[in-house]
Amino acid sequence: MDYEGFFEGQLSALREEGRYRVFADLERRAGAFPRATRYRGDATSEVTVWCSNDYLGMGQNAEVIAAMHAALDRCGAGAGGTRNISGTNHYHVLLERELADLHDKQAALLFTSGYVSNWAALSTLAAKLPDCVVFSDAKNHASMIEGIRHSRAEKHLFAHNDPEDLDRKLAQVAPGRAKLVAFESVYSMDGDIAPIAELCDVADKHGAMTYLDEVHAVGLYGPRGGGIAEREGLSDRLTLIEGTLGKAFGVVGGYIAGSAALCDFVRSYASGFIFTTALPPAIAAGAAASIRHLKSSQSERRRQQARVAELRSRLDAAGIPHLDNPSHIVPVMVGDPVLCKQISDLLLDDWGIYVQPINYPTVPRGSERLRITPSPLHSDRDLDHLITALTTIWKQLDLLRRAAAE
Ligand code: PLP
Repeated sequence: MDYEGFFEGQLSALREEGRYRVFADLERRAGAFPRATRYRGDATSEVTVWCSNDYLGMGQNAEVIAAMHAALDRCGAGAGGTRNISGTNHYHVLLERELADLHDKQAALLFTSGYVSNWAALSTLAAKLPDCVVFSDAKNHASMIEGIRHSRAEKHLFAHNDPEDLDRKLAQVAPGRAKLVAFESVYSMDGDIAPIAELCDVADKHGAMTYLDEVHAVGLYGPRGGGIAEREGLSDRLTLIEGTLGKAFGVVGGYIAGSAALCDFVRSYASGFIFTTALPPAIAAGAAASIRHLKSSQSERRRQQARVAELRSRLDAAGIPHLDNPSHIVPVMVGDPVLCKQISDLLLDDWGIYVQPINYPTVPRGSERLRITPSPLHSDRDLDHLITALTTIWKQLDLLRRAAAE
């Protein structure tokens, strides 16, 4: 077997399709978010990041950084083991309490990322619940899909955000069987929001457990940043809420929150929880500080929402097509992978604006886009600069005329 030839061939195919991924080599600047230094060979330049999932700039929040420094000085770098074998640090325990309180649940359990929390929790629950059937929203994230697949449980997709389809699918399964309904609140690429209450009504009717991924909502919605379920007063309707510490909370890590027995069960049976080194104590301390801050401070959320509204109206005024949705995610639709990369390159090289192109398989083919995430720290000047750049590029590439001709 020509291994190298195989790898090269697969990469060429990606390049030909225009969806080969090129990472921007960045150094984020603490105290200057959303500014970063871009490295390109020996040259460096300043860029403004418009596609970060550090949605509120909490990665550079003074309380978060101070908490991380203090924990680093107290405990050193790593946790020193798995949670079971010497790695449970008091900061983990405090963080799990903070998370349980955030979601108004009895308990919470930490994982090394949101991906791992979905993968580990779903695969364990669906594999261990006797004869379990999983009902998964058609647009669920890869981490949920992989977790469900790994469980080998019977799985049915229901139409995206469609309680009636879920009802039909649930009705086809024997009433006595264990059933798990898995969905997200804010969908990260289209920015649409699930009808949580209606999906819970249907799940309750059929005696199903509910599993909600709030990764793109925690910190951002609800009076204490508990997500869409908190905002809508629905936290108690969900059997389990999953989230991340790596997006609006600005650090890294993932978690689930639920009943004491459920979290203890996953703690005791999930391989993705048991057989891996615990998060560094400084990470847990920083995440806890971030959650505490966002439980009481509304200013970041308010300012972010105002920036999002401003960007949408400026895009409308400029005639630049974007998906309308009720969240903080602004997808500027391009619909072609090569063009999407070209626009992103022009923004970066000519304007110092960084928006990563989003191509298949992250989104369906033909719906390639620039996913823009305004933060509370983007200034009026940043917005003006972005709109001028997009308008110029849209003219340069004749995109408005092309859209009108279609
Ligand atoms: N769930 C959803 C819906 C996501 O979009 C992501 C990541 O983008 C994850 C889970 C994984 O979270 P993390 O980045 O913390 O691994």
